[in-house]
Amino acid sequence: MSTPARPANRHHKRPRGEGQWALGYREPLNKNEENKKADDGLNVRQRIIDVYSKHGFDSIDPADLRGRMRWYGLYTQRRPGIDGGKTAVLPPEELDDRYFMLRVRIDGGRLDLDQLRTIADISNKYARGTADITDRQNIQLHWVEIESVPDIWKRLEAVGLSTTEACGDTPRVIMGCPLAGIDAGEVIDGTAQIDDITTRYIGDTAFSNLPRKFKTAISGCTAQCTVHEINDIAFVGVVRDGEAGFDVWVGGGLSTNPMFAKRLGAFVRPEQVHEVWAGVCGIFRDYGYRRLRHRARIKFLINDWGAERFREVLETEYLGYRLPDGPAPEEPRGGRRDHVGVFPQKDGNFYVGFAPRVGRVNGDTLHRIADIAERHGSRRVHTTVEQKMVILDVAPDRVESIVAELEAADLRVTPSTFRRQTMACTGIEYCKLAIVETKATASRLIDELEARLPDFAEPLTINVNGCPNSCARIQVADIGLKGQLVVNDEGEQVEGFQVHLGGSIGLNPNFGRKVRGLKATAEELPDYVERVVRNFEKQKNDGETFSE
Ligand code: SF4
Repeated sequence: MSTPARPANRHHKRPRGEGQWALGYREPLNKNEENKKADDGLNVRQRIIDVYSKHGFDSIDPADLRGRMRWYGLYTQRRPGIDGGKTAVLPPEELDDRYFMLRVRIDGGRLDLDQLRTIADISNKYARGTADITDRQNIQLHWVEIESVPDIWKRLEAVGLSTTEACGDTPRVIMGCPLAGIDAGEVIDGTAQIDDITTRYIGDTAFSNLPRKFKTAISGCTAQCTVHEINDIAFVGVVRDGEAGFDVWVGGGLSTNPMFAKRLGAFVRPEQVHEVWAGVCGIFRDYGYRRLRHRARIKFLINDWGAERFREVLETEYLGYRLPDGPAPEEPRGGRRDHVGVFPQKDGNFYVGFAPRVGRVNGDTLHRIADIAERHGSRRVHTTVEQKMVILDVAPDRVESIVAELEAADLRVTPSTFRRQTMACTGIEYCKLAIVETKATASRLIDELEARLPDFAEPLTINVNGCPNSCARIQVADIGLKGQLVVNDEGEQVEGFQVHLGGSIGLNPNFGRKVRGLKATAEELPDYVERVVRNFEKQKNDGETFSE
């Protein structure tokens, strides 16, 4: 694979000391940058195969354990029993368990039955049956031992899956519409562009040392389901003078400094997408801020430069040609962006989207899903960006039966709003950054709200996070819950949540308002959310959504 040439023209000024390679700051300015310079993250693979898997956990070099392992989707789990109050104070070695979370990247959310069954087998054999569907279309397994990793890779790679650059300062999984190519209304099918980028660049040293993670979304779906507003780079299907192509957005991201992506205003033809992607990724690699990790995401660079200057640098220094101006995407269609339910495909078949509970499944459930799909003539089960799944290619006369079987397996095709639109991050069960528990709390919340508000049918997103990092996108939820310790009525410190209200994405995106004093303990969460929902129902005008 070729490495894109680094441009010679380096005249963009930044204050000294941001660690931008393009301005000559090649000396690492922090420990992370030192580790990346000392040895490329991709090189850890061979050590895992040759040394660590043979000699066990204690043989792992700490710089690999807490750094380079991520280049292959491996994070140590949180040691069980450590409460959230200790998260920020304990040294990493005391938080580390001897087991790993393993993230399987599923670019575009596309899985066939062999791939799904392979993940199910790995889950049962090596991960105590765990499996979580993430809100970036990946599947994460837990309790993985280092000794198992080579065999896991062998099994995954045999069916065309991988964990390469699933984490780390790399181009992460490329999100795509799970209905690409089959949706009757789509503007353009982005599948070829996703494949183009993964084949050319994932696992290549051209982009294996970025200042921070780099998240991509490519979709021509009219529901704009891949949330382009909050990705580092996104290509959104548009039509310009009768020609279908993409509108490019850069610099979205949430976490502690949330920013919406900016449109560059450029029209990108399908065959140019990989070049534009590599150009933007190259700007990030060369001009991105490497001094402070919390200022390293590309959103800070484009926020300082502005979209116009960013586009100028992209065209003149990286592409060597101008991109034409293009139209903005139309308003997303279809209300909810999750593809849950039964809908027609353009070939006369149907797709069936269903909602596991907050993305949590297990090895046996994944096998069951594969069996149900196969019995109904489908060979494709895709993941969505809302922790859901979609079975494709179901013949009209098989729809009733597949819906019945999925519902019987508690995989809801017609879920309540609360089951459908509640997401939760990993939380304290496994995540070393977590302050509170999330998956079980969110699951309990769903049960309570279904019982208390059985007729509520409005769209309403509830996103539950275990810490301020926003893996579950709290700032763009109607009700965003950020895990923290709070004081209860008895004056004790307990798990709870800071509440953000009224976040949204779409044509008029909005970050939820953090209202001072709006905090709830985990225990009183159902009461609290019920009150908010009932107030909304009482006060809303006709057609008004929660974020309005
Ligand atoms: Fe972990 Fe925080 Fe991300 Fe949740 S939001 S998975 S607790 S880092």
